Amino acid sequence: MYELKNYTEILVRQALQDYLNYNVISCSCERCQADIMTLTLNHLPTRYYVSLRGEFITKLESQSFAEQDCIMENIDRAAQQISAKPSHSLD
Ligand SMILES: [Zn+2]
Repeated sequence: MYELKNYTEILVRQALQDYLNYNVISCSCERCQADIMTLTLNHLPTRYYVSLRGEFITKLESQSFAEQDCIMENIDRAAQQISAKPSHSLD
């Protein structure tokens, strides 16, 4: 009934979609997006919360600009890294 969710992961997922709307990287397939997420999340603190299964967050906690900048910075770094060296061939 209840499950643990990582709030940071939700923020990063959204921020990555924003990032990909405005930036072109060599490959943005599902695998590369997962790699970027992993790399980014490993650099950010996890913030778990208890969620009722199936419940969606409609209003995200207000975050400071510094926090958003930090997330974007980490996504940018991870995206450049994965883009330069994807974990799959680009054929
Ligand atoms: Zn890819």
